[in-house]
Amino acid sequence: MTATLIDGKAFAAKVRAQVAEHVTRLKTDHAITPGLAVVLVGEDPASQVYVRSKRKMTTEVGMKSVEHRLDAETAEADLLALIDTLNTDPEIHGILVQLPLPKHLNEDLVINAIDPAKDVDGFHISNVGLLGTGQKSMVPCTPLGCLMMLREHHGSISGLDAVVIGRSNIVGKPMAQLLLNDSATVTIAHSRTKELADVVRRADIVVAAVGRPQMVPGDWIKPGATVIDVGINRLDAPEKGEGKTRLVGDVDFDSCAAVAGAITPVPGGVGPMTIACLLANTVTACCRANGLPEPEGLTA
Ligand code: NAD
Repeated sequence: MTATLIDGKAFAAKVRAQVAEHVTRLKTDHAITPGLAVVLVGEDPASQVYVRSKRKMTTEVGMKSVEHRLDAETAEADLLALIDTLNTDPEIHGILVQLPLPKHLNEDLVINAIDPAKDVDGFHISNVGLLGTGQKSMVPCTPLGCLMMLREHHGSISGLDAVVIGRSNIVGKPMAQLLLNDSATVTIAHSRTKELADVVRRADIVVAAVGRPQMVPGDWIKPGATVIDVGINRLDAPEKGEGKTRLVGDVDFDSCAAVAGAITPVPGGVGPMTIACLLANTVTACCRANGLPEPEGLTA
């Protein structure tokens, strides 16, 4: 391996420490405790794991954590009523509705019912519009984490050629927007892109957010490029024992690391940064709600 490893786990610990420091200051100087409410509808096992780890990290940085677990059959009106209550609760500064929602609930309607100022996932249509016009917004956590790592590694990404593979509302599109706002030259590639290998080969920065295990091989990577692997894919790992699995990203780590200048691993790259950025967004939302200065370096 010749690439520098971008250690998301260590960087996320640094971000959480900064958040914790700011939370302490809010408590001692202003008697304010930032509060995050997480709403989980149904029993999706992966969502349960995410929610549990969000709760643990929220309390670890000294914030108030509130969890609402609703039945999978919950009526849309009841979920909207809960969001309404959280919107007006002065002790709650961030609201996160864990996705995906059960099929009978309209995700867009539910997300757009959250007060945009408390929308710490950055999915509300107002925040999408603010980000798209380069205004202060709540920024989706995963792309924010990727941006922080890129800024830390490069200093400035102005003028660099960036390719984002994937165009989802959660990762690909906001990632492209953030790179553009930092003056990179941005290409968004997706499932219909022709000659994807050639498109990726032009990039100084490659962000892979597809959900296909190891689909980007090393010979697509320009020598010295920075590779940010957002993908989280589970593969069978019989070598670890029967029924065991291992996590891999969307890039083939070994061959890409032999060519790239820097690369994020999976696990231990983008994943830990996502939760750290959720905490960062909550403290930012709390400061904005109280007219206080925002922590530096924790927003886009
Ligand atoms: P998604 O399924 O919503 O979007 C996938 C995108 O990939 C689509 O825009 C599609 O056009 C594109 N795509 C599909 N096949 C392609 C191909 N052959 N070539 C080029 N593009 C192709 O997925 P998502 O929610 O954006 O997530 C992407 C990956 O990132 C998943 O593995 C997911 O688990 C992971 N993820 C990780 C984190 C984290 O915290 N690390 C957070 C969110 C998502």
